[in-house]
Amino acid sequence: VIGVDVGGTKILAGLVDRAGSILRTVEHETPTASEEAILAGIGAAIRVLVDGKPKAIGLGVPCNLDPVTGITHRATNLPLDDVDLGHWARDEFGLPVGVENDGNAAALAEWRLGAGRGARDLVMLTLGTGIGGGLILDGRLYRGWAELGHVVVEAGGPPCQGSCHGHGHLEGVASGEAAGRAARELYGADGDARVLVERARVGDEAAVAALAGIGRLLGVAVGSFVNMFNPDVVVVGGGFGAAAGELVLAPAREAARGEAIQPADGGVTIVPAELGERAGLIGAALVGFDALDGAR
Ligand SMILES: [Zn+2]
Repeated sequence: VIGVDVGGTKILAGLVDRAGSILRTVEHETPTASEEAILAGIGAAIRVLVDGKPKAIGLGVPCNLDPVTGITHRATNLPLDDVDLGHWARDEFGLPVGVENDGNAAALAEWRLGAGRGARDLVMLTLGTGIGGGLILDGRLYRGWAELGHVVVEAGGPPCQGSCHGHGHLEGVASGEAAGRAARELYGADGDARVLVERARVGDEAAVAALAGIGRLLGVAVGSFVNMFNPDVVVVGGGFGAAAGELVLAPAREAARGEAIQPADGGVTIVPAELGERAGLIGAALVGFDALDGAR
C-alpha cells in the first residue's frame, strides 16, 4: 500500500507492507498556495511509487474529517477546506483509498504495531510543534474528532497556538513550541526545545524544572483522559515527546495519578511511542490496508 503522511511542511509517502515495513519513501515540501497545488503535490508523491504495484492508498491529513462523508473540515494551516480526498484519489489512481486524520492514523499505528499493541483502549498524544491526539476505544479506532491537545489545563492561561483562539490549552503549554518559549526565557533568542532538552540532560536545574513543569501539565491532561476513557495505555510520541522522554513522562505520571479517580489512578500507564516519526506514514498505510480489506 502507498501511505501518504501529509504534513504542514512536508509530504512523506512510502510503500509499506502489512507488517509496517517501509520499502521505499519519497518526500518533498508541501505546496500550500492553493487546493490544486496541494492535490498536485500529493499526486506527484504517489506517482513516484506506483511502479511498486500498490494495492491501495492511505492518506493521513492534518485536518478533521466528517466521519460519514470523509470530507475535510478546515485545516489549520493547509488549503484543504471541504475536500473529498478519497473521491479525488480513487478517480486519480483507480485504487481503494482510505483517508484519516493524522493523529488518528498515528494512534492506529502505535496500537497495531507499536507501544500500544494488545490494548483495548488507548490514548495517543504526539508532542510536536503542536499536540495531536488519537483514540482507540473498545478495540477500534475512534474516527471522530480527537483534538486532545486542545483540552484546558490552565483556566485563563496563555493563548493557544496557530489558529486556535482558546486559552490554557495543553498545546499552548506542553508542545515543542511551548518548550521553545521556555528555552528562550532561560537562554535568550538561541533557545529552542532541543536546547532545553540538551541542557536538562547535562543537569541544568532550570531546564529540568521547565520540562518537569511541562510534564506536570501533560499529566493533568492525561489524568482527565484517564477519567474519561480509563485507557490501558497512554502513548506519547512526536519529535519533542521523543526527545524529552522521561524528563517529561516521569512528572506526567505523578500528576496523572494525582488527578485520576480511584481505582484507575493506580493503573495509569504512560509510555513513549515506538514508531517515532514514522507513525504517521505507517498509520496512513494501515488506513489504506483497511480500505483494501473493505473495513471502511
Ligand atoms: Zn487550542
